[in-house]
Amino acid sequence: MALTGLDIYKRLPKENCRECGVPTCLAFAMKVAAGQAGLSECPRLSEEARAELSEASAPPQRLVKIGPEQKLIEVGQETVLFRHDEKFYHPTAVALRVSDDQDPEAIRRACSAFRSLQFPRVGEILQADMIALVNESDSPQKMSAAAEIVSKELGVPMVLMSRRGESLAAAATGPLAGARPVLYCPPEISAGDWAALADLAQKTAAPLCVAGELNTVAERVEALGAKGAKNVLISPGDVAPSAALAFLTRSRRAALNKKYRPLGCPVLAIAAGADKVAAALDACAYVCKYAAVIVSDAWEPYLLLPILTIRQNIYTDPQKPVQVEAKLYEIGEVAQTSPLLVTTNFSLSYYAVESEVEASRIPCRILAVDTEGTSVLTSWASDKFNPKTITAALKSAGAEGKVKHHRLVIPGLVAVMAAPLGEESGWEVLVGPKEASGIGPFLKSEWKSN
Ligand code: SF4
Repeated sequence: MALTGLDIYKRLPKENCRECGVPTCLAFAMKVAAGQAGLSECPRLSEEARAELSEASAPPQRLVKIGPEQKLIEVGQETVLFRHDEKFYHPTAVALRVSDDQDPEAIRRACSAFRSLQFPRVGEILQADMIALVNESDSPQKMSAAAEIVSKELGVPMVLMSRRGESLAAAATGPLAGARPVLYCPPEISAGDWAALADLAQKTAAPLCVAGELNTVAERVEALGAKGAKNVLISPGDVAPSAALAFLTRSRRAALNKKYRPLGCPVLAIAAGADKVAAALDACAYVCKYAAVIVSDAWEPYLLLPILTIRQNIYTDPQKPVQVEAKLYEIGEVAQTSPLLVTTNFSLSYYAVESEVEASRIPCRILAVDTEGTSVLTSWASDKFNPKTITAALKSAGAEGKVKHHRLVIPGLVAVMAAPLGEESGWEVLVGPKEASGIGPFLKSEWKSN
């Protein structure tokens, strides 16, 4: 049972010295109880009290490490139900499913396809993280051989899925020894296999994934904890989306609101089915609703990209605008005659302009003005994107010495700024298109460097 703030307060030094960064010991106790501060932040706490309070100071959801050291993925240790309260810390790992019941060449082709599934978006490369190897052959030898191929080809973290403990053991102690694959046990696994897998997980330090209904899962996690196994994920199994979402939300609430430790584990969700589009939509919902790992069949780019895009959005910090460095960027082999485009340092604005410039194949300079990461219209309305700030940005970037035409292009959305900007900066101001998609045609038809 988790301790309350008052329970914690009773064991604190009560000196109100503020060395923990909080005005009073009582306020600090409340933060510890809410999982927002750790006991290590109070330097005056006695060792005896520290040991006594360790239960309360442990994060409500455990952190689980998956994969080999060089490609380690950490999942879990989330602290809030809603990202606007703080943020989500460890992005959902996406695992693409591969059957072991195919010839080695087909598995190598799958690995090659996995490598090619990369999508650049707002300054990041989006891609799947893991392979989920399914023991469809039912053969430990085939499971082990397939795991060896994937490990050699990709070296990415893996989920091993089998109803046979022997198959999981063959891969986890053979080609994946030391690589911490997730050992996924379906709900129907036998009691004998279950005990053997608990031992295997402890021996190999591989995370164990316990699947089933919430009550059964909680009992098994407690039993594992009693044996010293803490590296545990939980899963609803391969169930209907409504059941999976209920499992995800109930376990998260139990862990964070009630501090119920047996369900304080990251959740693995399976988004599969004959209708691949529906399964991809399920995966998107699971990303939003707390899944730490998703096993998916989204091998086609049009299925995988939405999942990765949602993940990228959900795991940004909602309290910090996503921004790029405010400076003068050079896209392509620029010359002194190359166009100069002006935008804000809001990531989506900047990358929308950058990708259209790249698509046009016309080398350009892009001046990203510091608007604290706000978009063109928002920053114009709040007076952060105005003739003075743009002129200052031109000067600090040394734009005058880099182009000889002395002309710049502003977004069409702020056409009203053209005349005052011309007066303030002394540059000739051209009004560009309202949408970034119009940049290519604009440069080809309107831009003249001399
Ligand atoms: S550092 Fe410890 S003693 Fe000092 S105010 Fe914080 S909790 Fe209290």
